[in-house]
Amino acid sequence: MDAEFRTGIGYDIHRLEAGAGIVLAGVTVPCAYRLIAHSDGDVVLHALCDALLGAVGGGDIGELFPDSDPRHAGRDSSELIREVLALPLLKPWRLCNLDINIIAQEPRLTAYKPQMRERIAELLHLPISRVGLKARTNEGLDAVGECRAIQAQVVVLLHPLRMQPWPKS
Ligand code: MG
Repeated sequence: MDAEFRTGIGYDIHRLEAGAGIVLAGVTVPCAYRLIAHSDGDVVLHALCDALLGAVGGGDIGELFPDSDPRHAGRDSSELIREVLALPLLKPWRLCNLDINIIAQEPRLTAYKPQMRERIAELLHLPISRVGLKARTNEGLDAVGECRAIQAQVVVLLHPLRMQPWPKS
């Protein structure tokens, strides 16, 4: 087993409009907005898909789940993550850790961060200590600062699969 590692980066942005809530990192956040998207608009999980795909040279989310395909309309993005994790390209690798930035002027996400980390850890079969998640505003600047969009950035690190499971902590 060599000690090769792989890293991947993902980014996503979706526009906001008036609505009854959004889904971020698989967690429903009640608020006066909705994310405009073909799927559920979960920018965190979309950026995570791209980070995983990028780490293995697997293309991008638009190639795998084109928004021209009606099968993906309104789709729960957790399903996209499960499909990406099941790709043969990812089989020789195990996720070491990931780090997430969510940039949203509104809604304020502080109260939801623990639940988001738990949800991501569950989706990826990772101990929660390996899931970094930060949320910040855009200081009122640009489209995100004007509450017209939400962005997410994700970095992942993969290492060669070994057979033993992760420790629980
Ligand atoms: Mg997206």
